[in-house]
Amino acid sequence: MLIDLRSDTVTRPTLEMRRAMAEAEVGDDVYGDDPTVNRLQELAAEKVGKEAALFLPSGTMGNQVAVMTHARRGEEVILEAEAHIFYYEVGGLAVLAGVQTRPLPGERGVITPAQVRGAVRGDDIHLPRTGLVCLENTHNRAGGAVWPLELFREVCGTAHEAGVPVHLDGARVFNAAIYYDLPVTEITRHVDSVMFCLSKGLCAPVGSILAGDADFIARARKNRKLLGGGMRQAGVLAAAGIVALEKMVDRLVEDHENARRLAAGLAEMRKVRLDPDAVQTNIVYFDVEGDARRIVEELRGRGVLMNALDPARIRVVTHHDVSRGDIERALEIMKEVLD
Ligand SMILES: *Cc1c(COP(=O)(O)O)cnc(C)c1O
Repeated sequence: MLIDLRSDTVTRPTLEMRRAMAEAEVGDDVYGDDPTVNRLQELAAEKVGKEAALFLPSGTMGNQVAVMTHARRGEEVILEAEAHIFYYEVGGLAVLAGVQTRPLPGERGVITPAQVRGAVRGDDIHLPRTGLVCLENTHNRAGGAVWPLELFREVCGTAHEAGVPVHLDGARVFNAAIYYDLPVTEITRHVDSVMFCLSKGLCAPVGSILAGDADFIARARKNRKLLGGGMRQAGVLAAAGIVALEKMVDRLVEDHENARRLAAGLAEMRKVRLDPDAVQTNIVYFDVEGDARRIVEELRGRGVLMNALDPARIRVVTHHDVSRGDIERALEIMKEVLD
């Protein structure tokens, strides 16, 4: 059996999800007729403390629809330079939303109120209008880092004082909530909209949620249709999403413990450079002596899968489908290659 540490997106739906999918009541969701999708959307909105929510095929579409709905063409969107929306969404902000991006250099995914204040445009005739601030928590490219919560609140406050809405790319926002040991609403109450993924650590096969106020979600629904994301009997997917939200959130704590165990083990290996204190949630980044891609290939041959991010850097992600036993086994195999 392979131990797949490439991403939490590799999680397969649980038996309970598959059963719920088989039995889901469905209808045509483009007409708003799918009772299971409606139930998921209500549950999701309630979970994150927003008026309404929308079920989408992917987190990428959720983010893109959010930006299209908040900002007009030609407006400027402030985000951190390593943000998923900027880095990994195929230039969608330019192509789909037609906005200009204003990436700011961050520290582990975090930008400061002063940076945001300084980046919001004035009303000089030459300048684009600032349409949106996007934040990310937990932060993917910063290795699953969480924002200091007080700073998060301040940055949102700074944007709002300037009359600019805030969208949270919260693909893994429940991992952040578990880290803070607070209800997720303590994060989401500060933002105007939030996207989160059902298909990562929460194990649903497909789908993400965008939540916000009712008017925003009504407009987002139209933009989802524009992108071809209007789905029909999507209740079979939403049924798994309901199980994800009801049953899979609290167990994320196990993924965080496994990530810490992996980090502690890796930190002792001779050819690894890693700061175990930087591991806050379910993602572990480490630097290796030697060619990361070759090392990843070597480990693949021994049954452990992970991703090389650049020539010296490897990423591993813990999730539901790797047990503590798998982690110990993976460490032994990695030791053969990295010690
Ligand atoms: C995975 C991820 C997304 C996109 O989700 P997909 O469902 O893969 O499109 C967006 N933002 C962050 C931070 C992510 O980690």
